This record gives sequence, C-alpha cells and structure tokens, in this order.
Amino acid sequence: IDSGKNNYSTEVQNSTASDEDKELAPSEKSLLQKIVRTGLITSKHDIEVQRRDPKSPLYSVKSFELLKLHPNLLRGVYEMGYNAPSKIQETALPLLLANPPQNLIAQSQSGTGKTAAFVLAMLSRVDPELQYPQVVCLSPTYELAIQTGEVAAKMSTYCPNIRLRYAVRGEDVEKGSKIEEQIIVGTPGKVLDWATKYKFFDPKNIKVFVLDEADIMVDTQGHQDQSFRIRKLLPETCQMMFFSATYTEDVMRFANAIAPMSVIIRLKREEETLDNIRQYYVNCNNKEDKYNALVNIYGGVTIGQAMIFCQTKKMALWLVNQMTEHGHAVALLSGELTVQQRISVLDSFREGKEKVLITTNVLSRGIDIEQVTIVINFDLPVTVTREPDYDTYLHRIGRTGRFGKKGIAINLVSGSSDHAILKQIEEHFCKPIECLNTDNADDME
Ligand code: ADP
Repeated sequence: IDSGKNNYSTEVQNSTASDEDKELAPSEKSLLQKIVRTGLITSKHDIEVQRRDPKSPLYSVKSFELLKLHPNLLRGVYEMGYNAPSKIQETALPLLLANPPQNLIAQSQSGTGKTAAFVLAMLSRVDPELQYPQVVCLSPTYELAIQTGEVAAKMSTYCPNIRLRYAVRGEDVEKGSKIEEQIIVGTPGKVLDWATKYKFFDPKNIKVFVLDEADIMVDTQGHQDQSFRIRKLLPETCQMMFFSATYTEDVMRFANAIAPMSVIIRLKREEETLDNIRQYYVNCNNKEDKYNALVNIYGGVTIGQAMIFCQTKKMALWLVNQMTEHGHAVALLSGELTVQQRISVLDSFREGKEKVLITTNVLSRGIDIEQVTIVINFDLPVTVTREPDYDTYLHRIGRTGRFGKKGIAINLVSGSSDHAILKQIEEHFCKPIECLNTDNADDME
C-alpha cells in the first residue's frame, strides 16, 4: 500500500491571534492524540462482552500466531513492534476474523488498539488477486482517514498486492473509470458520492464495512445519515465493524443501526491515578523566583522530558522568552496554534528536539505524552473563581495504563493563597506533597 501521506492541509483551521485558548474539536483532539501516542494503553480491566446468541462461541487469543494470519501479514504486525494482542484485540480479533463473519461493536478509549485490530481484519479479508474494492472504512475527517491508511500501509508492507485508495477531499477519480484498489478509506460524504453519484465502485462487492470514531461521527452533521445510506447499498453478508471511544445512548443507537446482531465488547476506561507520582512543591516569592527554581530543576534533570504548565498564555510566553534568552531549547504549545502547528510542535518534542514543553491548559486534557517524566506546575491549576481545579491537576500529572511507570510532579507556589490551594489539593487526593529545596543539591538528586 502506498500510504500517499499528504502534507497536512493548512486550511483546517486558520491561525488567529486570540488571547483565548482555542478549544479543539473532538476529531482534532483524537488526531493529536494519535500523533503523539507512541504505544499502547494497557488496561487493568476485563473486557465486557454482550452476545445476542449466548451459545455463539467466543475466543480470546494471547498470541498473533493463533490467528492463522497470512505469514506476510504476520510479519508486518511483528515489524510494527506488536508482540502480543492488546486486551481489546485478544477478544476482537477472533471475532473479526471468524468464519462465518460476525458483526462487532467495540468500545474502548483511544490508544487501546482498536485501529490496529480492524486494519488487521481488513487486510486479512482482502483478496489481493481481485482488482476492485472489497473493504470500506469510514473515518470522520480527512486527517483521521490518513492516519488509518498509514497504519494499513505499514502493516501491509509485505503484502505488495494489497492497495488502498483514500476517498477524501482533494482525491479524484477519472470520470467513468473504476477504482481498482481493494480498500477504500474515506469520509462518509465522499465515499457515498463515489458509490452512488459516480459509481466508481460497486458497493455489492464490499465484504467488510468499518465505521471508526463513531462517537465523533455522531456529533458531526450529516455523517450518520451518509453512513446509513452507504450501509444500505452493501450486501446482506457484509461484515460490519463498529468502533467508538465512548458508549453513549446516541452512539449505541447508531451502532445497532449500522451493525445489527453484533457481539458488543467494551473495555472500561483506565482511570488516571497519582499512585506512581512523587509530588513536591517549591516555595517561591514571585515569578522570577519560580523561574530560578525551574532552572535549577532543569539543570538537575538529566533524563526524560519535562512539561511545564502555566495558567495564562501571557505567563507561558514570558517563560518561553526567559528560557530562550538563557539558551534553553524549549517548545511552546499554545491555544492559538492551528492543528498543523500543534502537530509539528508535538512531533518535534516527541522526537526529543526539546527537553521542555511549555503549555497552558490546552494540553492538560486528553493528550498524554508518554515519555514525559516530570510535570511542573509553574502555576497551580485553579478555576476562574480561584478554587483548586482538581480535575486539571489530575489530568496534568496523573498517569494511566503503561504510564504506570514513575513520574515526578513539582508545584511552584508563591504566597499564602497558593499554599492554601496546595493544601486543598493534597487533602483532596490524600497524597502527600513534599517540600523541595531547589538550592540544595542533595534534594535535587
Ligand atoms: P486506538 O485505535 O484504540 O486509538 P491504536 O490501534 O491506534 O488504538 O493503538 C494505539 C497505539 O498502540 C499505537 O501506537 C499502536 O501502534 C500501538 N499498538 C496497537 N496494538 C498494539 C499491540 N498489540 N502491541 C503493541 N502496540 C500496539
């Protein structure tokens, strides 16, 4: 598969210089999270399964070998560094690869291996000898479709005869011709047009229909309707695979309409905890003092990367300027950046080009950067009424799943109101926050 990686189009969001952090759309958050993620979220929870027919067999596999995949596909899977199926894959893959095919509705949080599961199923259901579309996968946006296509391209490195076509904006097919690629990954509107208006492929030949990021689709005007209309064109026997990160009533109604008589599997969300996090605070008098403490910490940290949270954009900018002036390489992620700019900031940080990432609250929710070992609250998280913001505190420094590895959080506090807030945070989580003296080399080890 030629992944046809497009440069992210810059028209997604125009850059505007506002003082407010721009709240990202759910599809953009999901995209960012996919891009910064480097590995699986492992879950401590068990899979919940609902079957229409309780007698239908249910398997779980602990290895990819047991799935009897084509050797070239298996090779691709191993080369991606997947040694064993993730929790959701253990249960989903045998269902997805079963004969006769079974419909599946799967819900689990982002990062648990859903995409890898359905891409593997798509690839193994394709007949590479046939030169027409056999699989359709719907994604809510251009960028998310490309992400999925890239996973397919990697996994099928050793299956040169399997080809993929993107049905997204900017992609055209010559009028009157037919698509020869076996897999179509695209957005609902474009796929519908290609099937009905232009008849670039025959939906009756589709044997696998995947609907990904269903919760984002539900929130997007027209997507549900377009997906239903595509679904109606597919043969009775087509296997339906439905994926969502959340499990709301709306999503389930959509799911049951798209994929009736499905096995439903769910994996409970892994909660963030402070269990493996050592928490400290540093007494400071003012922001200059905080800056000095920071530089001492920064000097003392030889491994890993740090993320620094500021309450306002103004403070973040001040800090970036201070640090840059003193010769430190820092990255800034702020709310007015476009999605493309955020992606490039995060990519560069993930590659280790900067050791420190400074940000406001934009990043505190929903985006985890795994290799970060130190989180510094340059400002404590507070609500608009200056109450402690416990959720944000947890999202900033908490870790889930495989991030269970140890982390350090350092709070820079100045003044009595900061101390009061810190005390409340400590009591709220029932976890001690110890005093750290950044002038003392012993403390810094
Ligand atoms: P989701 O679709 O649920 O967000 P992904 O399929 O994108 O999850 O997987 C999340 C991350 O984990 C990706 O970086 C992916 O390459 C990796 N991954 C997926 N399955 C496995 C596996 N079995 N072993 C190791 N890593 C995996």
